[in-house]
Amino acid sequence: MSPPPASAIASRCIEVALAAPLFRTFTYHVPDGIAMPVAPGTRVLVSFRNRPEIGICLGAAVPPEGITLKPIQAVVDDVPSLPSSLLHTGKWIAAWYAAPLGLTLRAMLPTALTSAKAPAPASRTQRLVRIAMDLPSLLQREQTFARAKQQRVVYDLLEAQGGTAPLESLRIQAHCSAGVFTAMAKRGLVEIRDEAHQRDPFADRAGTLPPPNPSDAQKDAVRAILAGDPGQVFLLHGVTGSGKTLVYIEVLRAILEQREQTAIVLVPEIALTSQTVDRFRGAFGNDVAVLHSGLSDGERLDAWQSLRRGERRIAVGARSALFAPLERVGVVIVDEEHESSYKQSETPRYHAREAAIVRARAEGAVVVLGSATPSLETWERADRGQAIRLTLPDRAAGAQLPPVTVVDMRVELKQAVKERNPNAPFDETLGVFSKSLLVALEQRLVRGEQSLLLLNRRGYSSFMQCNACGTVPVCPHCSISLTYHRVPEILVCHYCQHQQPVPAVCPQCAAETMRRRGLGTQQVERVLSERFPEARIARMDVDTTSGKWAHTQILDRVGRGEVDILLGTQMIAKGLDFPNVTLVGVVDADTGLNLPDFRASERTFQLVSQVAGRAGRGPKGGDVIIQTRMPGSHAIRHAITHDVTGFVQEELGARRMPAYPPFVSIANVMVSGLDQAATAATAMAAASWVQRLVERQGLRDLVFVGPAPCPIDRIKDRWRWHFLLKSSQPRLMTRVARYIAERCPVPKLHELRLTVDRDPVSLL
Ligand code: ADP
Ligand code: ZN
Repeated sequence: MSPPPASAIASRCIEVALAAPLFRTFTYHVPDGIAMPVAPGTRVLVSFRNRPEIGICLGAAVPPEGITLKPIQAVVDDVPSLPSSLLHTGKWIAAWYAAPLGLTLRAMLPTALTSAKAPAPASRTQRLVRIAMDLPSLLQREQTFARAKQQRVVYDLLEAQGGTAPLESLRIQAHCSAGVFTAMAKRGLVEIRDEAHQRDPFADRAGTLPPPNPSDAQKDAVRAILAGDPGQVFLLHGVTGSGKTLVYIEVLRAILEQREQTAIVLVPEIALTSQTVDRFRGAFGNDVAVLHSGLSDGERLDAWQSLRRGERRIAVGARSALFAPLERVGVVIVDEEHESSYKQSETPRYHAREAAIVRARAEGAVVVLGSATPSLETWERADRGQAIRLTLPDRAAGAQLPPVTVVDMRVELKQAVKERNPNAPFDETLGVFSKSLLVALEQRLVRGEQSLLLLNRRGYSSFMQCNACGTVPVCPHCSISLTYHRVPEILVCHYCQHQQPVPAVCPQCAAETMRRRGLGTQQVERVLSERFPEARIARMDVDTTSGKWAHTQILDRVGRGEVDILLGTQMIAKGLDFPNVTLVGVVDADTGLNLPDFRASERTFQLVSQVAGRAGRGPKGGDVIIQTRMPGSHAIRHAITHDVTGFVQEELGARRMPAYPPFVSIANVMVSGLDQAATAATAMAAASWVQRLVERQGLRDLVFVGPAPCPIDRIKDRWRWHFLLKSSQPRLMTRVARYIAERCPVPKLHELRLTVDRDPVSLL
């Protein structure tokens, strides 16, 4: 940054960013009592629209002519809350993702630091419900809850959440009154107690010690990373179970101990990666600050300050841990760099991997992007020489990648129908489990080994349909069919959470022919528990993990061997390392393959490869069985052979014509609003506005696709239209994206809104 002109200092004016949806900054006057200069990145208290607001000083400003400036009221920081590398990162994010700078900077700081009001005290106690009577068999349950349907619902929900859950969250999920809980407590079925607000549970977890001896491959990777020039990016491509975590730990050790620097480690989601986090804590104890979404505002501020003061030197967390206020950062690690959760879905719509690279450059730190299934962006980056590829080709400690078997469910079903005995009762496992998966599950149960089952669709059935007229109940607020849930029995919209009773007759033709179609985790759980009544089954999906620590509780139970079969959505595919898991089954590999999104194949390949990689991590080895109706698709074919290179080659071929990332940069411009016609008209007007801009400026390297309704053209009552911009020149894209976000006219009617999503991870 160039020094401010002398006139600016002499004039005592500063430029301030305020958290408003405006693409401009504000100039304030610094009154005599306050010392100049005010360092960039310092928080200042100002009056904005007659309200006290916290702003960030960006530096000295030249006073505008003929305007009387308002004074700032106070300087809040002794040292800038945003050190220069963070301010730099914030400016980059705002520019690249076409976001207002003030909103971006606010998103980088803990809430407690950006509000002019004092933070509200966190509530102190919480009412918890715990199962007090075990009812393991179906029979017992039916007797106990004969007429108490709601109690049964509560009991099942509670059990699905690991046996303990907050009363309030249960009450909302079960749609019942608090009286139901009192009644259950009277019968001795559950226990209700008040518990002091749980303190940060990560603080109390025992860490796990990392393995003592890195392999040669691990040592080579560590050496290469430590020899990297400042700003160098590494792709650590290690197959599942190759021991990437130990590489991170050895790098961190050198950075902390030999270089006396600090480090940032990003993980996709803390709750799902508790095992990995435990290893960092095992190696570095209280040097680690775990930043997770369960922290209260006060706890978050504590963690932030301990990093700021240098009391803790490693920040571990999801996306926003990237903004940890550390100085002398030596390495930024992005674990599972392919995960789409690294992209923020609201303003500023940044991708943490890309922002990590920017921050690391500003710090002179190296970047490690780790994955067994790297994103195409990162793979391309290595091909172009902008990242150094390091490979861990084998599993650690002599373990082997598991063999994968594919079952073509089309063939399986035909065969099963042919062999069916017409007099036998209907077999519910039909169409859910192939014979080979059932046999494999049975074997694991007999041997006391564990299985993981993936089905990336929650709920009971994916939708309902009338057999007579074909009507499917859809959400009244979204263009999405409602999902059938059995416990409690309702139809739910997975986009807006709208709920409605299950219709007894078709809402269209009134016939009593409503049927459930498609498979969800609840149904698989029921079929499983009927087929294997003695098995201890746990389900992990959005519905069973609403409690704050539910994920960790379920995973801890698996780790202690209290679960035989863990069934779940993509949540179970993230980094789990359980040596007793010797079977992974993918119930339906095709759930994401047909989505109208250019990343559908990439996602499916990553999901299937990652979940397959959970099998056979211990000395007992393991097997993977994948059920699909599309065994020929390249996502499935290459996942079976653990062949990343093969997949990437084929997928890159498909991304050239028509061009998609990584070959071009794209931005998704979306118009949404409450009125369908106005939304369409605004989208079309915006598109012609952009078209004229392109023609006027002769922007040849800007391709324009659309406008059209989004694949999901209504969510939460808002109609949605979009168009895509593609360009092979990132700079041009930056300019155009910003120009559209700032200038494109949108009528102030029907809550119309225009958003620009640069480098989107989803086009739905
Ligand atoms: P990845 O993240 O690459 O899938 P992990 O880091 O989870 O793999 O490591 C897989 C397993 O191998 C872990 O249980 C880990 O403790 C073990 N492991 C890693 N490196 C070694 C080593 N050098 N010696 C022994 N065990 C190791
Ligand atoms: Zn909805």
